[in-house]
Amino acid sequence: MIPLNDIRQAVSQIRDDVGRAAQRSGRDPSQIKLVAATKFVEVDRVQEALLAGITICGENRLQEALEKMSLLRGTPNLSWHFIGRIQKRKIRSMVGQFELIHSVENYEQAQEIDRRAQEQGTPQAVLLEINVGQEETKGGFSALEVVKTLPEIDRLTHLQVQGLMAIPPWASDPETARPYFQQLRELADQIRQLPLARVHMHELSMGMSQDFQVAIEEGATMVRVGSRIFGARPT
Ligand SMILES: *Cc1c(COP(=O)(O)O)cnc(C)c1O
Repeated sequence: MIPLNDIRQAVSQIRDDVGRAAQRSGRDPSQIKLVAATKFVEVDRVQEALLAGITICGENRLQEALEKMSLLRGTPNLSWHFIGRIQKRKIRSMVGQFELIHSVENYEQAQEIDRRAQEQGTPQAVLLEINVGQEETKGGFSALEVVKTLPEIDRLTHLQVQGLMAIPPWASDPETARPYFQQLRELADQIRQLPLARVHMHELSMGMSQDFQVAIEEGATMVRVGSRIFGARPT
């Protein structure tokens, strides 16, 4: 576990790495958002990351997220993203709590989020998760499915699609993920050519502790970093 005072140092090193990766690819580092993946991280450690300038926490489980939100309520400039797997029956309590939901896996989830957002009278911003490695253990649309389903998704008036998200297959070499990141960027480019009214493709959420620099070189606008900030999680 990374000690408290080292959390700040880790965040500052990650910022430097983000800046360098942006520079290598001729991008503006201010266009890249750092999402701290805070699953299993206790609130005092999250607070340390906030002191280091983190402004977005990404949570995987609704209950854990709601508890932390309530403990950190009133913290200025803090927003919460949902990055984990979505359970349909929990969508009702999720909608409206997160600035962005990264991980919409299928049309049924999109439809249910839209329905609950409509009930609340406020649109919900989301990303569509793409299963780039076509892994059975992961959720998400295939590239083909998403293109086919987008005209229907586009009709959901309270779903604000802002882009795509992916978690490539795990590999020890970050370069292994590069073709998957390229694939996600190309898919977003392809979607931009479709005649859609509501769907936007501004955001690409890709890259974790392991490979966020490669993801930035390939166009990530959001990177989700956990263990490099907080240390290894309990397994
Ligand atoms: C945990 C998690 C991360 C962060 O993973 P690290 O390898 O610890 O950086 C990113 N994205 C998702 C969806 C996660 O669940």
